[in-house]
Amino acid sequence: MADAPRRDLESTKTMKSVMGDYFTELCQGPERGTKTAWCTSVGPAELLYAMGFNVFFPENHGAMLGASRMATDLIPAANALGYSPDICSYLTSDIGSYLKNESPIQKMNLPGPPRADVLVFNTNQCRDVKDWFQFYAREWNVPCIGIHTPRSIGQIDEQLADYIGAQIESLIEPLERVSGEKFDPDRLRQVVALSRQCTELWKQVLLAAANRPAPLTFFDGTIQMGPAVVLRGTRQAVDYYQLLVDELNQRVAQGVGAVAGERFRIYWEGMPIWGKLSSLAKQFVELKTAVVASTYCNSWIFDALDPADPFRSMARAYSSIFICRSEEYKEQYIKQMVEEYQVDGILYHDAKTCPNNSNCRYEMPQRLQRQFGKPYLVINGDLNDLRLYSEEQARTNIEAFAEQLAET
Ligand code: SF4
Repeated sequence: MADAPRRDLESTKTMKSVMGDYFTELCQGPERGTKTAWCTSVGPAELLYAMGFNVFFPENHGAMLGASRMATDLIPAANALGYSPDICSYLTSDIGSYLKNESPIQKMNLPGPPRADVLVFNTNQCRDVKDWFQFYAREWNVPCIGIHTPRSIGQIDEQLADYIGAQIESLIEPLERVSGEKFDPDRLRQVVALSRQCTELWKQVLLAAANRPAPLTFFDGTIQMGPAVVLRGTRQAVDYYQLLVDELNQRVAQGVGAVAGERFRIYWEGMPIWGKLSSLAKQFVELKTAVVASTYCNSWIFDALDPADPFRSMARAYSSIFICRSEEYKEQYIKQMVEEYQVDGILYHDAKTCPNNSNCRYEMPQRLQRQFGKPYLVINGDLNDLRLYSEEQARTNIEAFAEQLAET
């Protein structure tokens, strides 16, 4: 089918309003007496929503600091306090934002971010999140509690589900002490059911890009994923993704591609470069290359969630994410994504301050190339610290990569 002309996604206006309402509620919550819990982005959000907390996700704030390019100026304040420039630049930008009292949330005319009454982490992604939350726990003298997930997980077996499920359940008592309210298991089941619906719809959103031409790209996905990160477990997220899925289905039916004249299809492995999303998106459009899938956006698909078995299913869901899996699992996963999305080549982003989400440092690109012969490119950069990214070099390398794809 011939390409129809590209339009911006209509749903984005609704998404901005949903996110705006989330931030307004979040910042007004403390005035109404609602307790605030800070939660890692793949932490037990369902439990916190079910227990009536105002839930704030500092990594989402980190991404906002990156996308608004405030991060590079704020990171040195955290470095001066003793947080190394080599560790997670979400952590250093967020702590820098706190120290300098500058945040994109304030630019929305809101008094935020809200202070935590409790901080809840899951080390499924990295140790940095715990170190990050412990800074605020010391600063405000509030509890910092969490889940310790093993690394390099192969099979998710019963033993692991029991071990992590028990850790999630043990959070209830300290959370009740903070909220002053009794935990209601029925409420948790309802929230997990909503989170499951959100996940299924988010998966459909991303899967739409398996079509040719792809109706959305990785760059759209990084913006559209906001509700799946901060509002999973709520009706608002479910309603929003239903709207977006309907629009994407329409695009597919009409042959509307996100990249006009799509020639090549790329898989993005690793973190986004938040401060350069629009210039990268523009370059790929010029090269008629669609970045159709990514490990990053897919990390908020939690297939295992089951309201009938909330704790163990949350344990399975949050231990299944790519970042905490074994190398064998990761290779198999990327191979499957490459096939499903008909990918021509893989771009690995080696993010200097996030070794946890940079998978090109231990020969994976070479191994995968040997297995299925797809070309790859590694670009050096960072999620938030733009001092670690050479735009000129990346542009040149991406151009050369597109030429290589044209020859293969
Ligand atoms: S996974 Fe990477 S970006 Fe995310 S919190 Fe950990 S170190 Fe930071």
